[in-house]
Amino acid sequence: MNVISTVKDIRTLLLTYKQKQRTIAFVPTMGKLHDGHLSLIREAKKRADIVVVSIFVNPTQFGPNEDYNQYPRDLNTDLKHCLSLKVDVVFTPSASDLYGKATHPTEIYIPTLSQLHCGQSRKTFFKGICSVVLRFFMIIQPDIAIFGEKDYQQFILLSQMVTDLFLPITMISAPIYREKNGLAMSSRNTYLSKSQLQEAAEIYTALTNAKQLFQQGETSSNVLVEQITQHIQSNTSIRIDYCVGIDYQLLTSKNHLKRNDRILFAGYLNKTRLIDNISLV
Ligand code: AMP
Repeated sequence: MNVISTVKDIRTLLLTYKQKQRTIAFVPTMGKLHDGHLSLIREAKKRADIVVVSIFVNPTQFGPNEDYNQYPRDLNTDLKHCLSLKVDVVFTPSASDLYGKATHPTEIYIPTLSQLHCGQSRKTFFKGICSVVLRFFMIIQPDIAIFGEKDYQQFILLSQMVTDLFLPITMISAPIYREKNGLAMSSRNTYLSKSQLQEAAEIYTALTNAKQLFQQGETSSNVLVEQITQHIQSNTSIRIDYCVGIDYQLLTSKNHLKRNDRILFAGYLNKTRLIDNISLV
């Protein structure tokens, strides 16, 4: 396994694979890898000759009062996981190498979509994500990129970026990986105590109950969202940031939901931000 920390070195290495016509699948992460990340890597292994995983806590997607400094980092364990899955290349760039020397480096911004849902409380979040992922795409030039549905809005935004900029990359999404109690796996779950981990699992219970209601014929977003809100308020101390029924392609909120549409949820347990979503099928 090659562990590479500079843009120059990874370009040199990837060129040798490209000259041999090897296909490349790319899995971007912020590290502190859990089974959700590993499921993306397994998917990547199935789909391409070479798997590249990036581990980079991207400063530009964090707001000034967010957890950039506290965000969990554990490179040694991450590398062990990657080695055990036979990852070919782990890319661990520095922020200065990725963003260069300019006082105001190029930013990528998708209007409107960036301001919805997570973008309402995290104003510059998606600008930071698009700005870093486009850099990775230009450096690595993968054939395939794999993202988790856990960050559903992120996947739709990045897919639009790929379409808008004519990038020759196939975007693949992978299902949300969960703990036994239903809690969506997240690096931020390391902030939670044992009892908070149980409390946070109520998000999935609430989403699953709403999905059952949908399956029984209830299509009103208001009714489904209200049921989730009630459940969260009665069973947890989670402060809801948003809960919304959306069109699964456009991301816009809808009054009446159809098959494949989604309910997105975000909230805070103390200071820990938790997001989740469910597909209505
Ligand atoms: P992160 O390290 O949180 O930036 O996530 C890196 C990638 O892993 C993103 O595409 C996430 O959507 C994905 N991911 C994070 N958590 C999960 C999960 N529980 N199940 C599946 N994919 C996940």
